[in-house]
Amino acid sequence: MTSRSRFSTVKGTRDLLPPETRVWAAVEATARRVFETYGYGEIRTPILEDTELFVRGVGEATDIVGKEMYTFLDKKGRSLSLRPESTAPVARAFVEHHLSDWPAPVKLYYLGPQFRYERPQAGRYRQFYQIGAEAFGDDGPWIDVELLLMLRRFLGELGFEDLVVLLNTVGDRASRAAYGEALRRYLEPRRSELGEDSRRRLETNPLRILDTKLESETALLENAPALQEFLTPESREHFRVVCDALERFGVAFQVAERLVRGLDYYTRTVFEVVSAGLGAQNAILGGGRYDALISELGGSEVPGIGFAIGLDRLIDVLPESFRSRQAGARTIGVVRAGGVVVEEALRLAEELRIAGMATLVELGERSVKAALKSCSRRGCQLVVLLGEEELRSGTVAVKDLATGAQQSVARAELLRTIEER
Ligand code: AMP
Repeated sequence: MTSRSRFSTVKGTRDLLPPETRVWAAVEATARRVFETYGYGEIRTPILEDTELFVRGVGEATDIVGKEMYTFLDKKGRSLSLRPESTAPVARAFVEHHLSDWPAPVKLYYLGPQFRYERPQAGRYRQFYQIGAEAFGDDGPWIDVELLLMLRRFLGELGFEDLVVLLNTVGDRASRAAYGEALRRYLEPRRSELGEDSRRRLETNPLRILDTKLESETALLENAPALQEFLTPESREHFRVVCDALERFGVAFQVAERLVRGLDYYTRTVFEVVSAGLGAQNAILGGGRYDALISELGGSEVPGIGFAIGLDRLIDVLPESFRSRQAGARTIGVVRAGGVVVEEALRLAEELRIAGMATLVELGERSVKAALKSCSRRGCQLVVLLGEEELRSGTVAVKDLATGAQQSVARAELLRTIEER
């Protein structure tokens, strides 16, 4: 048997370490705070779900379900999958717990890891994180507007300025299907000019071909029938109200007629928010309406709208202003001189910590010089020194590591002295 001496993270996954995790936590806290002000409450669903939930909810023909799921049989032979997205799980929970009995709209948000077996590349992981929100039970355009206002508020609080909302409507289910058919009829005679992915999609999900990044295919699509011609008057009106309102609320957006999104469940409004700084994988969030998802999962006809923000990408392009605000509270060091027992130093550190100060305490038997050096390397600006003399006289010495200046302070005055520095 071979033994492995070293382990590393599984391909496409990564560890997040401090101080970066502090930035993540601050972004998450901002999302919670902002979303709560719009009346959204947190939902936590399991990471494992029945595979069938995603097959039904997201769509068998999508890349996510067709190619990218982590699916396995458990010990009883049940097919389970790590969730590749959370809208279907949240919709499942909505049906399972009869949330249609709650006053509408039911507004939920979630945070957590998602899993897709994709080819890892810059900004693309196999375990990645999303923050998302879903609003159920409101059919009208104003909830779409409110959701986009909430996104603007959240991204604004993070300091983003260069983001653009790309907006489109894919129409209701009937228009979407009729358009898919028309597109198929147009592309079928030109099949040989399509790439392998699009040839497959011609059978399974022709709308997705509009998403193509291949130049040859974009050219081919120039003369294809337009989705807009297939919209019902109701879908058109819904979209017009959304666009007009966004304009009046000063939300920067562009209508992107080719935007269809990769998931099958979308109807009517769809959107992405892109950042100029991100290159090819430039979408930091995507979302839209899914008016048939709940009924598809066995519930009644309840419309919904939501989005998912890719946290990994969001943090990649996070404005420096927000990042530097999380740069870390100052840390106080506690160092004892010979003759003082470690318990005394730990007791002093506890006092500082109870007062809310981040405190490092030297617990080992190091020289004062070595302990000071270690405090300095770990980013402390102030060190509290405790010697036998200080213990006897009820004082401590406060040393500023940047200037080397040291002052003697009565123990009772210590907190105030540090706070004033
Ligand atoms: P989707 O659930 O596909 O609509 O994606 C929503 C957002 O999640 C995207 O805009 C990305 O920011 C992010 N995302 C999707 N897949 C990945 C991935 N493999 N790695 C990192 N972020 C991802």
